[in-house]
Order: sequence, then C-alpha cells, then structure tokens
Amino acid sequence: MENPTPSAHKTSTADVAIIGGGAAGLAAAIAAREHSQDARIYLLDGAKSLGAKILVSGGGRCNVTHDRVTPKDFFGNRHIIRNVLAACSLEQTIAWLTSLGVGLKREDTGKMFPTTDKARTVLNALLARARDSGVTVCPDHRVNEVTRSESGFQVRHRYGLLHAARLILATGGQSLPKTGSDGFGYRLARFLGHHVTPTVPALVPLLLHHSMFHTTLSGLSQEVVLTTQVDGREADRRTGSLLWTHFGISGPVVMDASRFWTLATNQGLRVDLYGNFVPGRSSEALKEWFIRQTVEHPKRSLVRTLSLLVPERFAESLCRHSSCDPQHIMAQVARTDRDRLLNALTRFRFPIEGDRGWNFAEVTAGGVPLEEIDYRTMESKLLPGLYLVGELLDCDGRIGGFNFQWAWTTGGLAGRSAAKSLLARNRPQEAHD
Ligand SMILES: Cc1cc2nc3c(=O)[nH]c(=O)nc-3n(C[C@H](O)[C@H](O)[C@H](O)COP(=O)(O)OP(=O)(O)OC[C@H]3O[C@@H](n4cnc5c(N)ncnc54)[C@H](O)[C@@H]3O)c2cc1C
Repeated sequence: MENPTPSAHKTSTADVAIIGGGAAGLAAAIAAREHSQDARIYLLDGAKSLGAKILVSGGGRCNVTHDRVTPKDFFGNRHIIRNVLAACSLEQTIAWLTSLGVGLKREDTGKMFPTTDKARTVLNALLARARDSGVTVCPDHRVNEVTRSESGFQVRHRYGLLHAARLILATGGQSLPKTGSDGFGYRLARFLGHHVTPTVPALVPLLLHHSMFHTTLSGLSQEVVLTTQVDGREADRRTGSLLWTHFGISGPVVMDASRFWTLATNQGLRVDLYGNFVPGRSSEALKEWFIRQTVEHPKRSLVRTLSLLVPERFAESLCRHSSCDPQHIMAQVARTDRDRLLNALTRFRFPIEGDRGWNFAEVTAGGVPLEEIDYRTMESKLLPGLYLVGELLDCDGRIGGFNFQWAWTTGGLAGRSAAKSLLARNRPQEAHD
C-alpha cells in the first residue's frame, strides 16, 4: 500500500489501523507490532512525509522527555493523567528509545535530548522500527471519514477504503497545521460519538499592544514571576525566563502561562497578566532597598541604580514607560515617581492583545475528554475497539519534553492494548483449531 498512485482505488483490511503517524501514532504502531507478530498493522498519515512535528521540535533537537515527570507537569484531569503516566515510567521510556537506537542525554534543566542533538535521529529510529517490523506505513493517505462497521471500522482515505478490526486515532491537535495536524481529527472523534472540549493554542507566544516598549527590547530575556488572573482571581503563578520579542513576549514562562490566557479569553472571561521583574522581593522590601540606595548613592542615576536589579535596557524602557527620566539622579526622584516605578517593577500589567495563533503554538489545550477513555488501555469508553491517543486528548504538558512523553505513553498503551485485544479475540479460535 506504500505510495500508491492517486488513481488506484483500493480496499484493504487491517487488524489495527492507526490514523496519524506523529509521535503517538508511531509509538502505537511499534507497540502493536511488539505485542502481535502477525497482525496486519496499517499506519495512515495525510502528510507526504511523516513526522514533520518531530523534526521541528525542540529547536530541531527534539526534547523527547524530562528527567522527572509528574502529573503536575500536565494540565487536564490530573487523576486520570496520573494513572496514564503510571503505565510507563521514565526509565521505561528511556529504555524504549535506547532500544530503538536513540541514545539520550540530560541537560541541566532536566530536559532530555538525543545525544546527536538531532530530531532526525528520533524520527528515523521510529520510522525504521515501524517499517522493519512490518507495519504498513502509508504517507499521503489523508483520512476523510471513519464509520463503525460490523467487523470494526471503515476508514475512508484518499485512495480508497481500509477495513480495520481496531482503530487508533492519533491525529494530533491543531498546532502547526501545515504539518498535517489541522484539527480534522476532532471531527473524526466526533463522528465516532466523542465530545471535544473547546480547543485553544497553548505554549504560544503572546502579542502586546503596539504602544508597549517590547520592540526596543527584542531579544532580551530576564527572570520574572508571571501571575495570571482570571476575573480577578489568581489562576496561575510561575517563575522563569521571559523573552521580549518584536511582537510581544515569549520564553518558557510565557509559553507555559499562555494556556490560561487563551482558555479564559476563549470563554469570554477577563484575563490579566502581571509580571514581577524582581522575583523573590516584595514591594515593601524593594521600597526599603530603593530608599537605602537613595541615601547611600544620591548622585547615581535612576537607570544605573535599577540596573543593579534588572537588565539596563529594560530599566531604561520601564522608566520611560512610567514617565520617569532614567537619567535623573536618585536624590531627584519624587516619591510618587518612585512608587509608580516600583509598582511597575513588581506588578506590571502586560497589555496583551492576543496570542500568536496556531502557526506558532506548540500544542493544543482542550480536546477529547480524558473521562471518555479507559486510562488502562486508552480505549474509548463509548466505542469498543477505538483508541484515542496523543495531543488529540484534552491534556497538554508544560515545556520540557512532557508532550512527547504523553505521546509515547498513550501511543504505547493503545498499541499494546489493541494488539492484546486481538489476541484475546483469536484465542477461542486458536483453541478450536
Ligand atoms: C514547534 C514545536 C516544537 C515542539 N517541541 C517539543 C519538544 O521539544 N518536546 C515536546 O515534548 N513537545 C514538543 N512539541 C509538542 C509535540 O510536538 C506534540 O505534542 C506531539 O508531536 C504530538 O504528537 P501526536 O502524535 O499526538 O500528534 P502529531 O505529531 O501532531 O501527529 C499527528 C499526525 O496525524 C496526521 N493527521 C492529522 N489528521 C489526519 C487525517 N485526517 N488523516 C491522516 N492523517 C492525519 C498528521 O499529518 C500528523 O502527522 C512541539 C511542538 C511544536 C509545534
């Protein structure tokens, strides 16, 4: 079935069909084969070449997992996430990737990468294992429709029809749609009776109002405590690196917080994002520090003083933004100016205009509710024989390798369970033979 001509209209039969050949689909195919040597396993993907998202991930290095994985690293139903994660320990993930020929290294942040620093190593290893073990890999096989049939499922794709006893839906989310993950998988899930919670971009940079000073700081990063308030109540607080860009703000702390902004905005709620640029210092402590600086160095400029705490370029921009002259000497700074400036330093309200959209989002928040899945197998609770995995589900991880860990774990679980269920189905037959 590999690379047929568009005119060929075929009907084929599979024991396990997997729609979507990204991280989760490939993991599912490999696991299905490991647990059933003779099953006919088909992996269908709409893209001409598989794994585009793996290749662009981690800046082309593919951050495959993290040295510590806990439910807190994910958003969604944490009780179910905990149970899913329990199916595959970090050690098992590392051993599995190593068995494919992907040696791993750990960086100081805890992120784990292939030792080659090349995402291509990961993709090639997955594809080689799938193909070498006899999985029928079908690129350029966009699936348009899936229906239930007496013997399982009918999968209508670009070149014809595939009958399958078991079906694994691994179509990803909506992030980076040019890779093939354009959200159509949600429609397939709905065809099959599943719900889909509203989906929004997550791990996405945020846009600032044009009156802000971000363009002058483009490329600068600094530590910040970022607090997201939804309708006046704190929804999230995290500390990390913020990157100023020509369009607004990015960097790990912004990317991780962005889901709270996009989800709440999508619900029509009021969202405010505040930054404290001097993490670890309260506004009271900062005021005392400022007064001491004024006494000890009265002739030092405001910007030089502030640059003891924050990058100088930022200090200058913040002074101007707060209508204070950065070159004023400390002794000249009026009390009202000082208070305004200190407030801006510790509780800066970012004027967010929007998010950067699906083309720049790394993952999708929202999707098929985890409550509709049996976490022991990833099988649908609504439709036996159907399995749902990866980003398609309503679970998103923070930056650091967690989204791939989710893809490996859910894909592996579904592949194994689907194959085992076939064996269970065949057993009475075998006994009869
Ligand atoms: C720029 C970027 C960087 C990232 N970096 C990291 C990182 O370093 N670490 C990390 O953990 N996560 C990272 N992520 C997130 C991670 O890539 C995804 O969470 C993960 O790839 C999801 O895997 P998946 O298999 O569920 O979906 P996908 O990888 O999206 O795969 C889904 C597949 O389904 C196919 N498909 C969709 N619809 C159909 C259809 N109708 N018919 C046939 N095929 C279809 C698509 O073509 C696609 O190949 C990054 C994401 C992006 C966008």
